[in-house]
Amino acid sequence: MAKIDTRCVHAGYHPGKGEPRQLPIIQSTTFRYETSDQMGRLFDLEDSGYFYTRLQNPTVDAVAAQINDLEGGVGAILTSSGQAANLFACLNIATAGDHIVAANNIYGGTFNLLGVTLRQMGIDVTFLKADAPDDEIQAAIRPSTKLIFGETISNPGVEVFDIERWAKMAHRNGLPLVVDNTFATPVLCRPFEWGADIVTHSTTKYIDGQGVSVGGAVVDSGNFPWDRYPERFPGLTKPDASYHGLTYTQKFGKAAYIVKATTHLMRDLGSTQSPQNAFYLHLGLQTLHLRIRRHSESALKVAKWLQSRPEVAWIHYPGLGNPLAVKYLPDGCSGVMCLGLKGGRAFDNRFLDALKLVTIETHVADCHTCVLHPASHTHRQLSDEQLRAAGIAPDLIRLSIGLEDPDDIIEDLAQALNVAAHD
Ligand SMILES: *Cc1c(COP(=O)(O)O)cnc(C)c1O
Repeated sequence: MAKIDTRCVHAGYHPGKGEPRQLPIIQSTTFRYETSDQMGRLFDLEDSGYFYTRLQNPTVDAVAAQINDLEGGVGAILTSSGQAANLFACLNIATAGDHIVAANNIYGGTFNLLGVTLRQMGIDVTFLKADAPDDEIQAAIRPSTKLIFGETISNPGVEVFDIERWAKMAHRNGLPLVVDNTFATPVLCRPFEWGADIVTHSTTKYIDGQGVSVGGAVVDSGNFPWDRYPERFPGLTKPDASYHGLTYTQKFGKAAYIVKATTHLMRDLGSTQSPQNAFYLHLGLQTLHLRIRRHSESALKVAKWLQSRPEVAWIHYPGLGNPLAVKYLPDGCSGVMCLGLKGGRAFDNRFLDALKLVTIETHVADCHTCVLHPASHTHRQLSDEQLRAAGIAPDLIRLSIGLEDPDDIIEDLAQALNVAAHD
């Protein structure tokens, strides 16, 4: 198999003679067939083929195949957002009455999705610290538990998830481990190599990398033995009445989970990615390997500089010697870090206002360096107490290092710290 840099450029789309070199945008809702029987067989899942873009589209599929190739899975789908990807990853195997175990340091949007919306749908969730000892994880697992969930690099705390340890705990209990690999991207970490079973992405971040299109992906390793636990995963191992009694594990083998995500969840819930957005994603993917390494190198340089500054109370960047990062992220730790300053909320605000190159944005992980102060922005309705309960230090500033020259980024941070100190 070609190396990952080559696959970033080539995987997923292989034009034949006289076909477009760049991935074409198939901007069509529907696809034509010649006989009634041809169309009928598609709806019975007897033949594979395109019929309606809510389920599948050639442009979208090529990019899904590319992400699947990079992660080393058996199949992938693109979704309209990262939120939809995590929703699908859970709903594909969990339903009312079921239970999920998740790390509590996950992205705020996913924390709400699991802790509020899935709970409203009757799926209970237990949140554990990502460094919870094995016996605590074991004690949280119930007969109704269907999956375990964590993030390779958590957003915004940038903690590294011990994928191998959590995968062992999951598998010991007959459960799949779902890992959101958004910040690491498959260039820096491939969770399947450490035992994860399903990977999700917000492709909105580094995979797009340009800040252009919101999207997500779900990738299936094909490794989880669903049919060993037929009572726990009936949606995959028992006949599906909406497809004439077809059983996914029998019909699709290792790809059962990801086929069901398309034929069941995409069919019923939509949340498909548009061909246009998939095209933008593909443009981003072709340079992901170059960009993510540069993000990582620049972030390490900036993090080391910040660490040496007297105004900085604390800084978290996995590349500053975290042993889990040494294990899981040897090629770099992405561009995201978080830090706290010593001067209190007023100092923070003066610092943020004085930044010139670095912009204040809710976004993260693209080519522009940006900064966010959750306590003043995304989480401003929460008290300091509530912030801490949500795992966010009130003084936390999230800094996402872009692709500018790192010396220019440092110069901007230096002048803003200076202004904040003297205002
Ligand atoms: C942004 C993000 C999401 C949500 O993705 P959207 O594309 O914004 O819906 C999920 N997980 C992580 C780790 C993220 O950073």
